[in-house]
Amino acid sequence: MGELLYFAETTLLWMVAVFFLTGILIRSLFFVVNIFRSRSISRRSVLNRLVTLFGVFAPFHRAVLKKPGYTAIRYLFHVCLFILPIWFSGHVSLWEESRFEWYWTPLPDDWADRMTLAILAACAFFLARRIVLKNRHDTGFSDFLLILITALPFLTGYFLTHGTLNSIPFFDTYLWYMHVISGEIMLVMIVFLFYRTRLRKETCVGCAACVENCPTETLEFYDKDALRLFRYSQYQCICCGSCVNVCPENAATLSHAIGIRHFFRMLSKDVIRNVDLAMCERCGVAIAPKLQTAKLGSILTANDVEMALLNHCNRCKPRKIRTG
Ligand code: SF4
Ligand code: SF4
Repeated sequence: MGELLYFAETTLLWMVAVFFLTGILIRSLFFVVNIFRSRSISRRSVLNRLVTLFGVFAPFHRAVLKKPGYTAIRYLFHVCLFILPIWFSGHVSLWEESRFEWYWTPLPDDWADRMTLAILAACAFFLARRIVLKNRHDTGFSDFLLILITALPFLTGYFLTHGTLNSIPFFDTYLWYMHVISGEIMLVMIVFLFYRTRLRKETCVGCAACVENCPTETLEFYDKDALRLFRYSQYQCICCGSCVNVCPENAATLSHAIGIRHFFRMLSKDVIRNVDLAMCERCGVAIAPKLQTAKLGSILTANDVEMALLNHCNRCKPRKIRTG
């Protein structure tokens, strides 16, 4: 047992650090390449491409307008999550004492404390939100696990620095190892953490506005016979939120997805939604998704529906309706 713990705090720690840096480098390369190779973006100026690139990290995202409180908490959480492990004085000391003897100015301890508490409070908030909105967000076991794995290194780190559990027999010996191992698990998890865009079948009408506004062509659709199929690839998604912002039905959602299988399917595209197409009553070509025409029909009066000849394609409509 002692040897295993020693392995976890020495060799394994270095192995995980190298794995994490390599994984993040690969993921970052995909991220940048996808922004610059996308055909829809390459038609734009270099400035526009850079705006897309850095816009992902900006706090003034359009999603702010939809959920300002939630977006602010998420932003603060991610900033603390990035800064704290790098600039925490205990971690800086470890680097200084290592063979590299690297040193950089650490955060004051009271700042580190506040950031740790902010991360833990945010985790508690995400957990409560998941429980309360379980059905709306299609919450699964992995969502809870994700929050737990994220919170554990910070919780154990806080107890370690304050000696909170020192008087409890098990924790006085093993809390340090719990901190190291939970940190290692979190680093590995980050490499396998992807985004997942969903088009919720309960409300999505298949209009494809999300596809038109996806800057990296991660989302795409094609019509096959009487079906419209939406495809999505997780490796290309930059989590910009454009699909969520433009969806008129609030049907597009964006969340984290964790799993080794995503890493090995980085180059594939999966069908994530299909909708039936309405066919022209006269010539039989596809007109639009049935759900979309039904929605339009529910807004218009019966007379207008008949007048607009919704079940005819544009070519089969009389000229005066087509142009009017
Ligand atoms: S924009 Fe919304 S309603 Fe339209 S296809 Fe995308 S998710 Fe569905
Ligand atoms: S978040 Fe939506 S719009 Fe942005 S890249 Fe991903 S799928 Fe495309």
